[in-house]
Amino acid sequence: MSEICQKCGNIKPAQEEVCRVCNHSDMDEYRAVREYLRSNPNSNAMQIANATGISVSKILRYIKTGSLTVVDSEYSRRQR
Ligand SMILES: [Zn+2]
Repeated sequence: MSEICQKCGNIKPAQEEVCRVCNHSDMDEYRAVREYLRSNPNSNAMQIANATGISVSKILRYIKTGSLTVVDSEYSRRQR
């Protein structure tokens, strides 16, 4: 199962969560989130989602993996 992309069913590298194609679209979304955060540093995940059209769960995943640093007090509180 680790060789098949969860999103599109393509073959993917075993160490990656999704294939290169899906990973690439994730990168575009990640950049959009990062750009938004650059101009709106104190946004929470919900605000980012509304502004970028990216789902909150994805944004939280970007944050969780450490790709993004975001001031999101609500999320931080929930984690503790
Ligand atoms: Zn894929």
